[in-house]
Amino acid sequence: MIVPRWLFWHRRDLRLADNLGLAAACRATPAVTGVFVIEADDPASPPPSPAQLWFQAESLREMVQRWRDAGSRLLLLEGDPVGLLPRLAQAIGAEVVTWNRGVEPAERQRDRRVAAALQAGGARVLVDWDHLLVPPGDLRTGSGDPYRVYGPFWRSWRKRVASLPVADLTPRSAPAGLVDLDPASLAKGLRAVSPGGPEPTLSRLSERGQAFRGAATCPCRPGEAAAAVQLAAFAHTALLGYEPGRNRPGEAGTSALSAALRFGTLSPRQAWAAAQAMRPAAGSQEQEQAITVWEQELAWREFYQQALLQFPELAEGPYRPQWRHFPWENDELRFSAWSDGLTGVPIVDAAMRQLNESGWMHNRCRMIVASFLVKDLICDWRWGERAFMGRLVDGDLAANNGGWQWSASSGMDPKPLRIFNPYTQAARFDPEAKYIRRWLPELAHVATADLINGAIAPLERRGYPEPIVNHKAQQARFKALHATLS
Ligand code: FAD
Repeated sequence: MIVPRWLFWHRRDLRLADNLGLAAACRATPAVTGVFVIEADDPASPPPSPAQLWFQAESLREMVQRWRDAGSRLLLLEGDPVGLLPRLAQAIGAEVVTWNRGVEPAERQRDRRVAAALQAGGARVLVDWDHLLVPPGDLRTGSGDPYRVYGPFWRSWRKRVASLPVADLTPRSAPAGLVDLDPASLAKGLRAVSPGGPEPTLSRLSERGQAFRGAATCPCRPGEAAAAVQLAAFAHTALLGYEPGRNRPGEAGTSALSAALRFGTLSPRQAWAAAQAMRPAAGSQEQEQAITVWEQELAWREFYQQALLQFPELAEGPYRPQWRHFPWENDELRFSAWSDGLTGVPIVDAAMRQLNESGWMHNRCRMIVASFLVKDLICDWRWGERAFMGRLVDGDLAANNGGWQWSASSGMDPKPLRIFNPYTQAARFDPEAKYIRRWLPELAHVATADLINGAIAPLERRGYPEPIVNHKAQQARFKALHATLS
């Protein structure tokens, strides 16, 4: 009996287990082939960071093997999916091409072009949501608008999740017993997509990831297997103490699953299920609450994803129009000092060094350095947004833009002006200066109080700079400039 062949296009879902689009394909037929396309960098967007190339390459390396274990294969292509996928589908006789949808404006535009090209070639296209617990756009305010404010979004999102059938929240297993392409179809398919040379190899992919030097220190581990291990470890150790542990950058109090969620080596249902499985183990109200607070973080992720889908203009600049005219000072020297972790403000520099060395930064510190760049250095938040995307392993347009606009006060958040004092932040959240010492080893000998308040004696500095700005003075200056906005 001839079974119909389907093609599944992986994008930001680098896993086989609990992949809704893939599961739907495997329900329809065992003859499913996977494909991933390494696309040329879009000149209009920042190129992926070295950390992301590493994470992606290592995750794909594992996926190639997982596809083999499932009985079929993952094809790696290089080029433009608009041209490649229809050629491949036709050559291997794929009747249906399917993938999981995304929210980014450029991604959606590309997907529409791919779908049109496939349909023109006679293939059927099937797409649906996978990377969120609640599809973006499903939730509306009482007046029928998309949510702009997180608080009411969270309440409505939580209610919706609670009302979902158990089966919708239960992670599905990876497919097994798939049917691979026969050698003739495979050869035909490969000729169709790479007429001038061989299929791009994993080593070519790995080369792209080799510029990243922080693999040993990055807390995000690539691959589906590592994500599952990391999730289980977090659930059994830090989750019940997530509040207040999540705010202490010197401790491993958060999951570091952001890259796994960004690249889809982990699904949101898997994250959700792990949190629910720990509910019976919560021995106090505080521990119950800690689980809820982690759920709220998952909801922040979904909030920003739905916001970007509903308001694609977020990607272009400030959500609040008056911020388009803010008189930024944009001092390049100050920006480089911030970038390199040389501002003389220890908590800011420790955080930027963590980012530069490991490709990741603790959430509390992302808020501190973002506030410092915008409100103390009076630098356009979009410079920071770009710098983060160029370095983060978990860089994600929706979350990063959301985080920067929140910190800059230019976004949807209703609080008018939020200014962090980096010294009081350090005192509250890194009271023993563990985090500062970890990332500024040249200051390891300095007394804790001096590391926190930045008042380091000249002889103790050993090359470490004096603060490049005075926080109080800059705060006043920023407020005065802000007052000029109508
Ligand atoms: P946990 O505390 O374990 O939280 C679990 C998951 O919830 C995270 O993995 C993440 O997927 C999600 N999450 C948590 N907090 C947020 C949040 N505020 N917004 C959106 N999702 C959240 N997150 C990214 O994934 N990519 C980014 O590019 C990104 N850029 C940011 C830029 C700025 C200026 C700020 C303030 C925050 C940014 N965040 C970004 C959000 C947050 O800092 C990270 O998601 C978090 O630090 C990841 O650590 P974790 O996995 O240990 O999170």
